[in-house]
Amino acid sequence: MERTPVEEFDAVLVGGGIMSATLGILLAELEPDWRIAVLERLPGSGQESSNAWNNAGTGHAGLCEFNYTPRRPDGSVDVSRAVEIGAQFSASLIFWSRLAARGAIGSPQDFIRAVPHLGFGRGADGVAHLRGRFEALRGHPLFAGTEFSDDPTVLAGWLPLMFGGRPTGEPVAVTRSPRGTDVDFGVLTRRLLSALEAQGGVVRLRHEVTSLSRTGGFWEVGVRDLGTRVPRRLRAPYVFVGAGGGTLPLLQRAGVPEVRRYGAFPISGQFLRTSRPDLVAAHRAKVYGHADPGAPTISVPHLDHRTVDGQEYLMFGPFAAFSPRFLRTGRRTDLVRSVRPGNVPVLAASARDNRSLIAYLVREIAATSRARLAALRRFVPAAEPGDWELVSAGQRVQVLKMSGDPGRQRGAMVGFGTEVVTSAGGSLAALLGASPGASTAASTMVGVLAASFPDRMAGWAPQLDGLAPSTDSPAPLDPAELAARTDEARRVLGLDRADGASGKESA
Ligand SMILES: Cc1cc2nc3c(=O)[nH]c(=O)nc-3n(C[C@H](O)[C@H](O)[C@H](O)COP(=O)(O)OP(=O)(O)OC[C@H]3O[C@@H](n4cnc5c(N)ncnc54)[C@H](O)[C@@H]3O)c2cc1C
Repeated sequence: MERTPVEEFDAVLVGGGIMSATLGILLAELEPDWRIAVLERLPGSGQESSNAWNNAGTGHAGLCEFNYTPRRPDGSVDVSRAVEIGAQFSASLIFWSRLAARGAIGSPQDFIRAVPHLGFGRGADGVAHLRGRFEALRGHPLFAGTEFSDDPTVLAGWLPLMFGGRPTGEPVAVTRSPRGTDVDFGVLTRRLLSALEAQGGVVRLRHEVTSLSRTGGFWEVGVRDLGTRVPRRLRAPYVFVGAGGGTLPLLQRAGVPEVRRYGAFPISGQFLRTSRPDLVAAHRAKVYGHADPGAPTISVPHLDHRTVDGQEYLMFGPFAAFSPRFLRTGRRTDLVRSVRPGNVPVLAASARDNRSLIAYLVREIAATSRARLAALRRFVPAAEPGDWELVSAGQRVQVLKMSGDPGRQRGAMVGFGTEVVTSAGGSLAALLGASPGASTAASTMVGVLAASFPDRMAGWAPQLDGLAPSTDSPAPLDPAELAARTDEARRVLGLDRADGASGKESA
């Protein structure tokens, strides 16, 4: 039988989510003559994890999340990760603002809005952690304007739904940053991919990548056209796999040696959601709490104001749930099919070494609606079950791999960070893991460029520093310069118009 003809590209990007969309634009900016193709299996782009309803829409900038500021054994707070994530989110803001300023991605208000970010400390320990976090970040330019209060009157003014009429007794405190954002990463993905097409890129929907093989210094990409059922072949010297939960299975099928020992375990997220206008109006904020003592960091609850398709909502969660699929639209057999002789040891070690996480997941999966309501009432004491519906969000595929010194290896979940895997001299790069996710897409994709094209980075650096300044750049910006460029980006994106500044005194 005659084989289908091969189409030639300079770069093929697998998956039409926020990551491929971001990388596609960066490559098109740096190498305008390159032929770039994005292949997406669904009928629309940005429909899996990047879809607004499949994530929490938080522009993670380290402003309020306890899990980025762990306490040291002496009780002091390590804020280095929050500062790093703040700088990474700045890179995203600068990247989006550069495109918005020249009209390439439409009106920014369609995908990003100012929503204050607040940290919520409960109990003496939680309050001490929050105060330590606030003190350690005070004075950093990216965290300017953050306020701290444990005064019930101030808290009721900031967060009427949470603190108006809250029973007294438990110590509580809140930090409040006016620099927070709510992002619709689905709309943003589609805008970025349209901009890529306008720059000559090719975006093919309903095109599922079924195989990757390396021949003669090129990658051959096998594709099933789900519309016509015709198999297609593309060839390119460079492939990026940004297929979300589909990444590991595709790399396994391709026999990529770097992931031979990796396993994967999917965890779904669920949220309680309301659109009752008086509730939504009483909570224009994203409030992040902390995990209960002994609980894993993924159990961090948050109550978020969201705007999706012009409609306002509140979302509370996440609650962990289980589905064996690796994508929301994946197959029930995904988990079973991911088990290979090479990754059985890591699966066994992960089950052995993550007992508290597994116990937490079992508890969550068995949780009743009454338990979910009790969790919500820690934030919204007067919450009524009839006002809130349970909705499913996206799948997080936690990647499992061995870590630690030889001889004392443990099975570890890396899904709470992001890992860039490269193979064949950097000619193939792939993104595994989920957190902090879409917010850091610009700097994560600059990292992919550095891992894939180390010899070109010096030549690309001046342009990249303008587009998405990276903390890994040979000449990184100092915090004041970065904050000045972030402020300019916020202005272009219209984020300072309704930044929620309260005018209240800092404690
Ligand atoms: C519950 C939850 C809450 C989250 N909250 C936040 C948050 O508040 N803020 C934040 O910044 N991040 C958040 N994230 C993380 C964020 O959603 C992800 O990091 C981000 O969307 C990942 O983008 P992606 O492009 O890698 O993957 P995706 O958006 O999943 O895109 C991958 C695409 O690849 C396609 N694909 C898969 N296999 C193939 C194939 N073989 N051929 C062709 N196409 C294929 C899929 O259909 C999909 O469209 C959250 C995630 C979850 C699950």
